[in-house]
Amino acid sequence: MKLYNLKDHNEQVSFARAVTQGLGKRQGLFFPHDLPEFSLTEVDEMLQQDFVSRSAKILSAFIGDEIPAAELEARVRAAFAFPAPVSQVQADVGCLELFHGPTLAFKDFGGRFMAQMLTHISGDKPVTILTATSGDTGAAVAHAFYGLKNVRVVILYPRGKISPLQEKLFCTLGGNIETVAIDGDFDACQALVKQAFDDEELKQTLGLNSANSINISRLLAQICYYFEAVAQLPREARNQLVISVPSGNFGDLTAGLLARSLGLPVKRFIAATNVNDTVPRFLQEGEWKPKATQATLSNAMDVSQPNNWPRVEELFRRKVWRLKDLGYASVDDETTKATMRELQALGYTSEPHAAVAYRALRDALQPGEYGLFLGTAHPAKFKESVEAILGQTLSLPKELAERADLPLLSHNLLADFAALRQFMMRNA
Ligand SMILES: *Cc1c(COP(=O)(O)O)cnc(C)c1O
Repeated sequence: MKLYNLKDHNEQVSFARAVTQGLGKRQGLFFPHDLPEFSLTEVDEMLQQDFVSRSAKILSAFIGDEIPAAELEARVRAAFAFPAPVSQVQADVGCLELFHGPTLAFKDFGGRFMAQMLTHISGDKPVTILTATSGDTGAAVAHAFYGLKNVRVVILYPRGKISPLQEKLFCTLGGNIETVAIDGDFDACQALVKQAFDDEELKQTLGLNSANSINISRLLAQICYYFEAVAQLPREARNQLVISVPSGNFGDLTAGLLARSLGLPVKRFIAATNVNDTVPRFLQEGEWKPKATQATLSNAMDVSQPNNWPRVEELFRRKVWRLKDLGYASVDDETTKATMRELQALGYTSEPHAAVAYRALRDALQPGEYGLFLGTAHPAKFKESVEAILGQTLSLPKELAERADLPLLSHNLLADFAALRQFMMRNA
């Protein structure tokens, strides 16, 4: 597989290089040089296959001979160890539930596949993943790498500033996962990570890698569940399909568009955001004018400078698609709450991110069309706000309930690079 840097098309790298490096020069994103396409017959056949075999075929269409097919399939099987079911919400609307993985959010798909690819690529060479988190990404990274050979994971988080449940989710694992509560805020944690990556000796000795969220392997993994969704729909829904994607950094939407470029029958996509609506305003007015980020109920989408957007634009350019065919909507918190109650009345318990996507979908769906919205997180993940909005208590899924009783295994450190360095080098 060949990829190029969107900021400098002359920088071309292999899949292995793109995965280990994350970003190109000048922080440019990598984008596939070839955009494979399946024929109608091939897509039909693939939709009959099981999730893992089909996903291996999709991924190998991009990755090519850099990873042997059997090895890739084994890696996909290890990563995608949980289902992505479509739950019927109304006669013409379904929710693609992406929250049945270990951290109850869709980021498990991308995170776990990235972990498999990084460990495959580094072989027997030890790697240390160092990352800072304000909650969510840390849990996904920890679970994705948990128990993998030759990988050590160090996760920094601001002490006392993440939810107790979040902390339980990734600070109780032990084994190759080391969690460090820093006396400082999230920015202090990020600054420490940055200092570590600037320290050449540390980087070389430990084989530091950031497992960054813009990693190309995550995007490729996310393509697979769009196929899995269509495979579950009745045939007649296929060409009438509208998919609404709750968007923050627009990785998920990019993956959906890549699925369509492979030949998946999707009539149109809707980019659904909360009031952090840089993209909807851009699509409406043609001007890119990010505002200050606002805190909302759908906080994983509180992003005003979405970092995957250049990939969306590049794909439209390459495919000669028109941006004006991309649907969009922004949904405020009041409407999000009302929509969660509306879904509850339909017998479907939801959370703020999915509700944003459902609202955008319901308001735009035409007669004869079939709509899918992505359920990006389990409602229990946003227990406090969901309970307050719906006026009922939610029970935690079993894995989470069990974890809540385990002791925290975190280390404590001051926000001081020398201390972190010593901690990280203690066995080197
Ligand atoms: C990360 C996240 C999103 C946004 O996904 P992007 O790929 O960044 O657009 C939506 N919902 C939830 C629950 C998330 O964690």
